[in-house]
Formats: sequence, C-alpha cells, structure tokens
Amino acid sequence: MLRSLALLFIIASCNGINMPGSDAPVNPEAKTYSYACLDSSVANDPTGRKVEKVTGIIRDLAVSKRSITDDVQSEWGAAFHKDLVETGESKLIDDPAISAKLNKVLQDLLAARSKPSQIRYYIYTLDDTALNAFTFGGRIYITKKMWDRCKSDDGLLYAIVGHEIGHSEAGHIKTSIQEMELAERYFGEGGSTYLQLKSILTASFNQKNELEADYYGINLTNKLGFDLCTVVDFWRELASKENPYNRVEDFLRTHPFSQARAQCLKDHIRVNFGRDCEEKVR
Ligand SMILES: [Zn+2]
Repeated sequence: MLRSLALLFIIASCNGINMPGSDAPVNPEAKTYSYACLDSSVANDPTGRKVEKVTGIIRDLAVSKRSITDDVQSEWGAAFHKDLVETGESKLIDDPAISAKLNKVLQDLLAARSKPSQIRYYIYTLDDTALNAFTFGGRIYITKKMWDRCKSDDGLLYAIVGHEIGHSEAGHIKTSIQEMELAERYFGEGGSTYLQLKSILTASFNQKNELEADYYGINLTNKLGFDLCTVVDFWRELASKENPYNRVEDFLRTHPFSQARAQCLKDHIRVNFGRDCEEKVR
C-alpha cells in the first residue's frame, strides 16, 4: 500500500545531464531560476490558471499540516525501500563496481550542497529497461538503462543524481508526504481516486518541480567542475525521439517535454554560468 501510494507521487522519470569541461564558471552558484521557458498551456490558458489555483490550495493545505522533518522523510524512504524489496516488483542490481561509483557521485554531490538537509541518502540500481531515475525519502533509484547511458559521461551522471537530490532538498518530497497524509485523512487509506485526480491537477506544478530539480542538479554539477552542455545535449537527444509537440499532452504530462527542458537548461546555463550550449550540427 505504501508503495503504490508513494509511486503516484514519486515524480519519477528524472533525468538531468553534463560532463567535465574546462570553462570556468562565471558564478559558482546560479542566481536565477526561470520557469518562463516552460511553454505549458498553463501560462496563458484560463483552465490552466484555474488548475494552478486549485493545485496551490491543495498544496497550501498540505504544507500547513504537521511538520515533516528530515527524519520523518528518511523514515518514509526506509519504509518505501523495504516495501520495494519485499514485494519483488523491482529488482535491485548488486554490482559492487556500480555501487561504488554511484556512491562516490552521491557523496560528492552531497558535499557540494550549500545548505544541506539532514535527510539520509542512499542510491541503488534497478534491473529495469526503462531510461529512468526517481527518488523518495532520500532513497535514489537509477535504472540499469540509465546507468548504461550515463556511465561513460560523468557530468551527465552527476546531473542526474543531483536532480534526484534536488527533489528532496527543495522540499518536493516533503510536500508529497504531507499530501499523502492529508489524502488518507480525508479519503481513507489509499485515497486513490483523490490521488489520481490530483496527479492530473498537479501536472503543471510538477513540471516546475522537475525544472527546479534540474536547476539544482546543474548547479551542483557546475560547482564540481563539470561541463554542463552534455545535459542539454541529452535532452535534445530525447526530444528528437519524442512525438511532435502537443500542447494538450504537454499539459497533462508530469514532466516537461524534453525540448522545453533542453531550452530551459540552455537558458539557465547561459544566464548563470555564461556558457552557450550551442546545438551541434548533425
Ligand atoms: Zn524529477
């Protein structure tokens, strides 16, 4: 039960990206976070504005409830992980070499945080053929396919793991836990109808969360001295495989379209770090 509940909010599918470079950053820390680049129908559409308002009310309500401390988040993460292992739905890969590398990436990133939380972090590889990564309560999961895509590109790997850390450090997971507790109180254990409805209502909000986590991961990756443009290239590559742009679909998606994400990150890197990630001529 915990897992199925949690999964609705995991805000999975988190990808970020980079690689080591020689350009010195203009600023070690990003000064601006812009969401104007999200060309979602939310921005100008009356329905979108209404949904955004409802979403805001739900979140404000959730946030006003009992405080979810870093310890509480870590406890939820541990319970989630136990459930994941016990149900056997997802299989963990036990490869010492991969674990060692991922743990180094994790520790490097955690050490680079400027205002660290006390959340306890762990990282795992999942035997999964989808290109994905997700997190909950300090537990970070990278699929084998994502590992294979990133293993030879350190910057990309750091940006992806940094993105997942960003979801916790920026309070997205905390809010999700509050929302789950609230849903259970009002709709009974599970509250699935509410959650399903809400997962649609919050689609646009989650796009912002995804971008905020992207920026967080990019900033840490930049701080550690990696080049950031391979992150943009990664999203361009995914964008080239996606369906043609569709506003309705974009609105309903939990995640920004890869094309928008590539553009947002390109802008972020140019504005904050003075680097222009030009598209390579194909
Ligand atoms: Zn994410």
